[in-house]
Order: sequence, then C-alpha cells, then structure tokens
Amino acid sequence: MRIKELFDEKTVFSFEVFPPKKNSSVDVIYQTLDELRDLKPDFISVTFSAGGSGNGHFACDIASRIKESGVTPMIHLPCINYSKAEIEATLEEIQSRGIENILALRGDINPDIPPKTDFLHASDLITFLRSKGDFDIAGACYPECHPDSENLVDDIMNLRKKVEAGADHLITQLFFDNDSFYDFREKAAIAGINVPIEAGIMPVVNKNQIERMVTTCGASLPRKFVKIMQRYEHNPEALRDAGIAYAVNQIVDLVASGVDGIHLYTMNNSYVARRISEAVSGIISSC
Ligand code: FAD
Repeated sequence: MRIKELFDEKTVFSFEVFPPKKNSSVDVIYQTLDELRDLKPDFISVTFSAGGSGNGHFACDIASRIKESGVTPMIHLPCINYSKAEIEATLEEIQSRGIENILALRGDINPDIPPKTDFLHASDLITFLRSKGDFDIAGACYPECHPDSENLVDDIMNLRKKVEAGADHLITQLFFDNDSFYDFREKAAIAGINVPIEAGIMPVVNKNQIERMVTTCGASLPRKFVKIMQRYEHNPEALRDAGIAYAVNQIVDLVASGVDGIHLYTMNNSYVARRISEAVSGIISSC
C-alpha cells in the first residue's frame, strides 16, 4: 500500500518505532510490533541509524516484520554517511522485501563521522530514489525550523526543493505547541508546498524524556507543558498520565484544525500508544 493514497481518504494515523541496539535481542521489538498492530495504525515507520550504530539491517528486518503482520511499513533512509553504492545496496534490500514506502532523510551530521559527499541533502536522495523505482517517498519537515537553517523562511524554501524533487508527503519533527505547526503549515502553503503534512507527536511520559527534551530537542516548551512536567516529574505514574493527556489534547486540537495526519513517536512503548489510540480513535475516524 502506498501511503500517499491514504491521505485522499482519511486523517492518517501512524506510529514510529526504532530498532533495538546492535547485538540486542529483537524479540522485545517484535512483541511491541504485535501490540501496535492490534491498534490498527495506517502504517508503522522504522528509524534507521545515520551511521555508526549499524542498525540498518535491523531496520529492514523490522520493516519486513511489520509487512508480514499486515500493516503497511515505511523505512527511514538517511543518506549523509552513505555512498551512492551503499544506498543502492540498501535500496535493493528494501525492494527485495517488497517495501514501497521510504522516508528519505539526510540524517544528522555527526562530528565523529566525516560525511560522504554523494548526497548532501534529502532532496538529492529523493532525486536518486525517483530514478530507481516507483517508491512512495516522504520527507521530514520542521515547524520550528531545522537547526542548520538561519530562519524558518529559508528552511521552507529548502523544503520546497525536497517536494519538487519528488516527496509525496511530509512528517514533522515533534512539537509541543500546536500554534507553531499552524504557522508553519500556513507558510508552507504560501510557498507552494501542497503535499500532505503529518504532525509528529511525542508523548513525554518519563523523566529521562523530559531531560532530553530540555537539552536536545530544540522544540519550544509551552508554559502549560513545563508546568505539567515540573508538577509530576517525581511521580512516574502521574507523569505518564499527564504526558498521555497532553499528547491527546494536542491531537484533538490538530484534528479539529484539519491536520492531514498524526505520526506518533511511540518510543517503542505500546502501552502509551494504546492509551492514546483509544482516546482519539473516535476523533480520527470521524474525519
Ligand atoms: P535536509 O532536508 O537535507 O535538511 C537539512 C538542512 O539543510 C536544513 O537546514 C534544510 O533547510 C537544508 N536544506 C535542505 N535541502 C537543501 C538544499 N537542496 N539546498 C540547501 N540546503 C538545503 N535521522 C536519522 O538518522 N534516522 C532516522 O530514522 C530519522 N528519522 C527522522 C524522522 C523524522 C520524522 C524527522 C523529522 C527527522 C528524522 N531524523 C532521522 C533526523 C534527521 O535526519 C535530521 O533532522 C537531519 O538533521 C536533517 O534531515 P533532513 O532529511 O530533514 O535534511
């Protein structure tokens, strides 16, 4: 199933998972996938290391497993640390497993890994993928601007190159302030970007995640969000429930505002994905 076709029919609801670390057992993620499948997402995407951790083969295995379970898989494919020959080999593996949906990415630049030069941007990879087969291709986008760009307008002009190269739809970086998404969506439309944009939602349900959010994610943290996190950070159960409620509120507002889709960063936590799916299923299916 090509994901782009879904957007004509409905508000898309999808999940993201990540492969276990190299040399870890895949049994846990397979169990998680079985639990996520029961929630009937429109697709499940699987992340792929931009280089270093060697989880690319795992990512293909997991995408295959998603497909076997009857759910449409999407595989992420970062290019900055791979040569054309390496990407070609991965693409052959993806094609041989019957995976049609690819999230084409540059990947973060790691100061310890000198980038390769065949693909400098996701748009270069998308042009290459278009020459190699009839894939459904998604791209990433950043409501609060990618950190490498000076401002959101420049970033959106670059995003347009990604769409012109052939991205069929887009998935956003996580955000906690829906207004930043609405502002971005409006600016993207003015720039002529008219492909569907799924909103990336990350439920923050434990203290480690809060610390990571504050130090690395770059998403702005609205006062309401900070207040909730501070209030419950020492009570794991309350924090989990508050994080789920916050994500549900974001989704309700986004769907009411006509979002094309919701992409849930599950962090491989099927319990949280279930709670959110159950809370929003009537809302999502009403569109
Ligand atoms: P690009 O589109 O290349 O953009 C990077 C920067 O270059 C931006 O500032 C942009 O404005 C600029 N730019 C883009 N195109 C051009 C152009 N043609 N000319 C000049 N400037 C340009 N990383 C992983 O390693 N593995 C994953 O599985 C993964 N999954 C992700 C999923 C989602 C939904 C998102 C939002 C991100 C994900 N990432 C992943 C992180 C992503 O790889 C990083 O954010 C990376 O820094 C940028 O990737 P990109 O594809 O957006 O890059």
